[in-house]
Amino acid sequence: MTLSPARLGSGVTVPPLPPNSPLLRARVYQADDQTVIISMHPRAGTLFSGLTTVGSNGVALGIGRSTTASSALRLPNTRPQTPNSDPSPSAPLPSLQNGRNVVIIDPGHGGSDPGAVGIGNIHEADVVLEISQQVASILEQQGVQAIMTRTSDVDVELEPRVAMAEQANASLFVSIHANAIDMSRPEVNGTSTYYFSSGESLAQTVQNSIVQALGMKDRGIHSARFYVLRKTSMPAILVETAFVTGAEDARKLADSSWRTQMATAIANGVLQYLQGRSR
Ligand code: ZN
Repeated sequence: MTLSPARLGSGVTVPPLPPNSPLLRARVYQADDQTVIISMHPRAGTLFSGLTTVGSNGVALGIGRSTTASSALRLPNTRPQTPNSDPSPSAPLPSLQNGRNVVIIDPGHGGSDPGAVGIGNIHEADVVLEISQQVASILEQQGVQAIMTRTSDVDVELEPRVAMAEQANASLFVSIHANAIDMSRPEVNGTSTYYFSSGESLAQTVQNSIVQALGMKDRGIHSARFYVLRKTSMPAILVETAFVTGAEDARKLADSSWRTQMATAIANGVLQYLQGRSR
């Protein structure tokens, strides 16, 4: 597939292919400054069943084996192919796909909304996007399908973030933010995690993971009526990773190796929660 003119967003990768995938290999790369190429090597007997638009900024590609089940290669910002676009209605969907965990990773703010702006002109929208991309890539490496609500610095309203989770029938929703208080309070630092209803246990697991791995000041978990927590039907949390206005925290947020540690701690918390639930 040749996309031109197009630029490859940062952190865009092909998701891990399940063992029974009709694809043997797939890759995505910037061929030149105008062209993105998605190259796929299917197994013999692969049926290409067409393209479907998904929402306003997504495309799903239908690929399947004519004798077995179909699968869908998901491009960033797309949602899984719906069963009624399956070219062979009698074929069952792969059980892997049914049993697979889908986790929504929601970097807060973006585009015209920079979120909180703190010490050293740190923009919440930028640091949480980078942390979120790393969380998603760690989850994908562990066989969890991660869908991001934004993959670049763009405006996304709250409603489509929730709609994306509902349409993907996601198992979990993880919103990632950075906290802020008045610039005259640099002594306020630390991590807190919010939930609304069913997210309490996920919130505690992720909060513990962060506090243990990074030694962050533990500001605890709290119930809150944030839109993305109230309107999602799956366990949902909102992580306030650190304070952009905190003297200690702003230094950490500006450090790329700390951001990677934060992403790892969040991903580990999510994985622990999923493992605990599947037992
Ligand atoms: Zn925020």
